[in-house]
Amino acid sequence: MSFSALGLSNEIVRAVSACGYTTPTPIQLQAIPVVLSGRDLLAAAQTGTGKTAGFTLPILHQLSKHRNHREGPKLKPAIRSLILTPTRELALQVEESVREYGKYLKLNSMVVYGGVNINPQIQRLKSGVDILVATPGRLLDHIQQGRVDLSHVEILVLDEADRMLDMGFIRDIQKILALLPKRRQNLLFSATFSPEIKAFASGLLNQPAIVDV
Ligand code: AMP
Repeated sequence: MSFSALGLSNEIVRAVSACGYTTPTPIQLQAIPVVLSGRDLLAAAQTGTGKTAGFTLPILHQLSKHRNHREGPKLKPAIRSLILTPTRELALQVEESVREYGKYLKLNSMVVYGGVNINPQIQRLKSGVDILVATPGRLLDHIQQGRVDLSHVEILVLDEADRMLDMGFIRDIQKILALLPKRRQNLLFSATFSPEIKAFASGLLNQPAIVDV
């Protein structure tokens, strides 16, 4: 099975080939069709399995199918996908992947994380972002300052959700979730399925497909 047989657009397949990937990994084979179908997803996946491409490739495909409805001469694009990660390092890696895989598409991505000056992030947010990768605490700072509008998010990803819960982000995440549209697609990736993750996932996901590699 090839990336194009999974239904990904030529622009995405070209970018993936440029990275030297020839065949999808098991998590990609299972997750990509689910994400393209619009279903919620609960995926058990460790780092190193190719999970990042497993959600970023189909998100890029879905978002590039339809133009940002807020795009126009006076309007900045709305955030259509929000990807939450536990750490700055992971956020940076994920956003770099989004940019690499989306290099032949006209989508904007950006990363926000704490521990650095907030002002450059504010400036960049002003120009509009289709895909926002964020750590929960800094995202809440931006929300509280009125810098981020999450009311147009179509696809939410919680990457390494078990680590986010372990790090005590649950309250921040709940606050962020309350600002998202009710109708949206949710993708949850976790290395482990503890009782806490199961309880959290059952409150968040709507009849998810389950992928375990
Ligand atoms: P991840 O598990 O998402 O952190 O990815 C682990 C590594 O695998 C990254 O360095 C990716 O660039 C690489 N990778 C992802 N998908 C593929 C693929 N289909 N073929 C070869 N390498 C891949």
